[in-house]
Amino acid sequence: MIKKIWNSPVWSGVIVAIIVGIPTAIAKLVSLIKNETFQNSWDYLVSFKFPIIYFVFILVSVLLLIRIILWIREKYYSDEYLSSSERLLQRKFHKFHDKTDDVTLKWRVAFDEFDEPYADNLRFFCCKHGPTPIKFIDNRCTVANCPNALKQIDPLYLKNIVDSELIHRWQLIQEGRLKK
Ligand SMILES: [Zn+2]
Repeated sequence: MIKKIWNSPVWSGVIVAIIVGIPTAIAKLVSLIKNETFQNSWDYLVSFKFPIIYFVFILVSVLLLIRIILWIREKYYSDEYLSSSERLLQRKFHKFHDKTDDVTLKWRVAFDEFDEPYADNLRFFCCKHGPTPIKFIDNRCTVANCPNALKQIDPLYLKNIVDSELIHRWQLIQEGRLKK
């Protein structure tokens, strides 16, 4: 686990920032309070007999905290931890076909920290060109002269519609009105 965190450029950066940043911040604070130069405060701090065991304890606590944060993130963002009703919503409502424009919307059902569903990775496909739906680029179909290539869709507007529908259906599932 430590190796994994250390290999991650972000987390190793955070740890280095903590190890270097905390003594620097303390030295700066001491220099302000005692009205001394930063160099004097830094020397004072370095000469200070800070028991190594406290340092190890703080380091372990920080690593443990990082692990807990990662665990909570995994719990909320990974499909593995979804409950049966969350899976039901995911299975029942992960795409929608708009017959008027022959466009299919696909997404992954995700849940935020308040257990509210939202559409993650929402994509649009044009279904006017044979059995394979063609993925939109720049909010339009990529096939020349296709009616869906001549106009652009509004992804934020559509995402809000899908999110609203997900919230509505989630409510129905929780009230027991939408079953398997
Ligand atoms: Zn098209």
